Amino acid sequence: MAGKSKTTQTAVSEYNRSSVLEYLYANGVCSRAQLADALSLTPAALTKISARLIESGIIKETGGIVGRKNRRSIGLSFVEDRFHVIGVKFARSLVQIGVFDLKGNALRVTSLPDVTDDTIDDAVDGVHRAVSALLQDDPDVVAVGMAVPGPYLRTVGRTALVSFMQSWSKVEFIDEFGSAFRVPVFIEQDARAGALAQRLFSNGPTGDNLAYYLLGEGIGLGVIDHGGLVNGALGAATEIGHVSIDVHGRKCDCGNVGCLERYCSAVAIHDDLVKDGSLVPGAKDMSHRDACAALFRAAKNGDERAQAKVDDIGRYVGYGCVTIINAYNPDVIVLGDIISQAGPRLLTAAQSVVAERVLPVLRNSTDIRLSDLPADATILGAAAVAISNFLEHPSNFLAPSE
Ligand SMILES: [Zn+2]
Repeated sequence: MAGKSKTTQTAVSEYNRSSVLEYLYANGVCSRAQLADALSLTPAALTKISARLIESGIIKETGGIVGRKNRRSIGLSFVEDRFHVIGVKFARSLVQIGVFDLKGNALRVTSLPDVTDDTIDDAVDGVHRAVSALLQDDPDVVAVGMAVPGPYLRTVGRTALVSFMQSWSKVEFIDEFGSAFRVPVFIEQDARAGALAQRLFSNGPTGDNLAYYLLGEGIGLGVIDHGGLVNGALGAATEIGHVSIDVHGRKCDCGNVGCLERYCSAVAIHDDLVKDGSLVPGAKDMSHRDACAALFRAAKNGDERAQAKVDDIGRYVGYGCVTIINAYNPDVIVLGDIISQAGPRLLTAAQSVVAERVLPVLRNSTDIRLSDLPADATILGAAAVAISNFLEHPSNFLAPSE
């Protein structure tokens, strides 16, 4: 019994330590009294926790701030550059690796050579080499986060399907990287990583129930429900890209018909542009991203056919929003990645579908907005995966106290 209560005590201490760290991370400078109030901790507990965190360098005292009753008290703040993380983004043909501080500021980002189905093994070796070299250069790195394309079998460590780049599904990510380095490695599906990035780095309020709707080469979704990610039995839940919006529609590699991803992903839009031939001249020789960007530019410049196409894409994005609201009832849906670059016009079209098709009480309580993070937030998401784990279990990363 003694052993058990000690374990419980340790878990409570760690929970409180994490709460203090997360509160300072989100709220900036606070006094000990403000923290004790906000987190329902005793002053004695707060003194002990802050001493431990100051000793490890992750928070610091910042001099006097004006507290209650105009008394001056010592402020505490999070030290964002004391530790670093590495983020690795795996996309179909692109692997990017970056070093970030704990507020998501990129210190350096590099891309590996373009990946094809034949060069997956080289790409995996390249990640081992690049991460090892960065760890050697920077002793302050405490964790590695990885973002991989979905559907990702989180419990198994493998991606179930990567349209147009099936070789990625042969990589056993957890076996390959899980204990390959001197620091812990955390792996998430890319949209889930994006949801964590929104929670940590977005300037707007994101609430406890957040859906990050990744509109990129594929269509993904990451859902945070009451503060925790929705994962499912194998860890492959929330795959909105493979929800059918037309049971007689376009066939998908997953076996389903009419998958959302076949209508409003960058790959699907690029296909449409190549077939059309005139909407974006030369689309055939462009990347998916560039072809979509050219379409969105034309729409912004007043091309009426391009505007109609953006409205059309926005409506498809909206059908996805309808399902997201009915399935997960989030406070906020954030539209991100390549397709969100179409901007307010796309958002308006998506919102109009939601206005037509969702119960008023639900649609009125759901804020749908464009991401305020960089267009390609996935590498930032990879960093967010590592940072979220750090904030949740700080003692796993900090030197043991005496
Ligand atoms: Zn599908």
